[in-house]
Amino acid sequence: MKKKLYFGSNLKMYKNINETITYLKQLQNATLDLNRLEYTIFIIPSFTSLHQASKDINQDLIWLGAQNMCWAEQGQFTGEISPLMLQELGLKIVELGHSERRHVFGEDNQILQKKVTASLEHGFTTLLCVGENEQEKEFDISNEILRIQLKTGLSDIKEEQLPKLWIAYEPVWAIGVNGKPATAEYAQKKHSEIRTVLEEMFGAKGKEIPILYGGSVNLQNAEVLITQPDIDGLFVGRSAWNAEEFNHLIRNAINSYQKSCT
Ligand code: PEP
Repeated sequence: MKKKLYFGSNLKMYKNINETITYLKQLQNATLDLNRLEYTIFIIPSFTSLHQASKDINQDLIWLGAQNMCWAEQGQFTGEISPLMLQELGLKIVELGHSERRHVFGEDNQILQKKVTASLEHGFTTLLCVGENEQEKEFDISNEILRIQLKTGLSDIKEEQLPKLWIAYEPVWAIGVNGKPATAEYAQKKHSEIRTVLEEMFGAKGKEIPILYGGSVNLQNAEVLITQPDIDGLFVGRSAWNAEEFNHLIRNAINSYQKSCT
């Protein structure tokens, strides 16, 4: 059976409001013809761009998300964003546990577990990022790390919330300007490990949770990554931040996947 494909980008702390809206409109126009029952396209911009983006962009075409969220609805949480504030914007996605949140801002698995639970309870599609760092890979404990991140982060989920859960496998050593992309073979092995853990936790329903790969995805490696059996989508950083380039990458990946199905 053909899998549904997911393509998205987190804009991190790049692009101001005008740049974000221009980018989103370009991407929306360039991808108008793609059937959204087969392909989900999503962008996660800065908090300051979200209000305007939610007015200007058709979320049936480009799903919008937030890069982080507090577990509480209100209170003494200076600098945090409440789930109610994100609901006010009509956002579809909340991304949690990106490597930079974990490693620069010290978010641990317990904090992420509270955030994942709150995000699903507030009805957001919740994209939990997991991945081992370079040292953990060298010690050959990547599978153990993924297992801990998943089993802790997802420990409070109710079965009916599973359709709104997505996972991104983003090995820390593969992300950003100094990252080296995982080979398709390595990424497939880790996605398969993630799938095993999800099935252990959620039974057959674990098979249906989309698992996206992220970490130095580019125009070339997108084609081979997307054809791996346990890779359902690509979560792209730098190679997505120009709308034309991202559109090109998406189409290359779709063509390659379609060829692999024939
Ligand atoms: C990321 O930061 O999540 C990411 C995937 O970035 P890049 O594609 O630029 O490595």
